[in-house]
Amino acid sequence: MPGADAAAGAAAAVPIACDALVIGAGPVGLWQVFQLGLQGIAAEVVDALPVPGGQCIELYPDKPIYDIPGVPVCSGRELVDRLLQQIRPFAPRFHLGQEVARLQPRGDGGFDVATTTGQAFVARTVFIAAGVGAFQPRQLQADGAAALPSDDLFYRLPPDGALAGRQVLVVGGEDAAVQAAVRLADAPASAAPATITLLHRRATLSADADLLARLQAHIDGGRVQFQVGQVLSVHTAGGPARLAGVQVADGDGQTRSLPADALLVQLGISPKLGPISQWGLAMERRQLVVDTARFETSQPGLHAVGDVVTYPGKKKLILCGFHEATLAAFAALARLRPDEPQLLQYTTTSPRLHQRLGVATPAKA
Ligand SMILES: Cc1cc2nc3c(=O)[nH]c(=O)nc-3n(C[C@H](O)[C@H](O)[C@H](O)COP(=O)(O)OP(=O)(O)OC[C@H]3O[C@@H](n4cnc5c(N)ncnc54)[C@H](O)[C@@H]3O)c2cc1C
Repeated sequence: MPGADAAAGAAAAVPIACDALVIGAGPVGLWQVFQLGLQGIAAEVVDALPVPGGQCIELYPDKPIYDIPGVPVCSGRELVDRLLQQIRPFAPRFHLGQEVARLQPRGDGGFDVATTTGQAFVARTVFIAAGVGAFQPRQLQADGAAALPSDDLFYRLPPDGALAGRQVLVVGGEDAAVQAAVRLADAPASAAPATITLLHRRATLSADADLLARLQAHIDGGRVQFQVGQVLSVHTAGGPARLAGVQVADGDGQTRSLPADALLVQLGISPKLGPISQWGLAMERRQLVVDTARFETSQPGLHAVGDVVTYPGKKKLILCGFHEATLAAFAALARLRPDEPQLLQYTTTSPRLHQRLGVATPAKA
């Protein structure tokens, strides 16, 4: 991950002082970093997810988007990759896998902010780009599951090869679960699990047709077993206790055991607006009320952009979020450097912007 601060949690004791803190690394949060960068403002970025991309990565990484101006079509993943490439000159620091839990205005006009891993920030301006909230994987509700070691119970597909030689039970019946089973089955022999079982509570899976076709090919080839049932409990063996199998109920209420030493739970994700609704900001229908000139919340210096905001005519589209982030960055410059003239400069012609972008200014003809 470019610029990722893997040790953000470990550095918890030292608050990071910054001009701008962006909460949320979805497409709009990433574009916020770009627009701040053009204004010469460096940003720290926090996201609850372990990777940037928000809804584009979590909900539709491989689906096509057709309404990004100048890009006739790209997938959710491609859009995020391009945004990450575009913000690279501004070297934002990412603090991933942690939720912003606390935000408090300071007497000096800035903000004290803290994340769930204990990382603290003292930020002069804050940009809430939290979309529909922090994404949390839906947990497996089965006896004993919560006590399983993190090496045996996964809520995200671990890196290629991490499940090599293991008896993997994938739980779920939608795109993410089918994709995970196919990906594991596609792995070369040296990185492949010993067995792959896909378990869904219904006989019908709900995923893209081409994904289902790829799964069927693996089922026909004996690489993946598909079973219908619901996990009731997990059983463990050894000391320290490791996963040895699961107890499963089928549709008729019959129970049976399935062997497994790794559980990959792909039951979807649910967004939670969580702490943001407790920060005392003006809200309407669980969205932050902002003005449409500065995209500022009811708290000066605290901006909000993207799906998390509401104003007359708001549309939850990436393009609209990009516009909001652009105006919010101009407003932040006025607050952070009030003496600096607010010049509108073009990336085409401005030597100052070229310098910030790290590109050469073309010689005059
Ligand atoms: C299936 C689908 C298809 C879509 N197709 C299109 C399309 O074709 N065109 C289009 O314009 N739009 C489309 N959209 C909508 C588009 O994805 C959203 O408008 C866009 O993702 C909003 O971006 P965002 O950055 O505001 O929020 P999000 O993408 O939701 O990102 C918000 C991020 O903030 C993080 N976060 C939230 N709270 C916290 C916290 N307290 N601490 C730390 N992190 C936090 C979340 O983990 C998340 O990563 C689609 C949406 C869906 C579901």
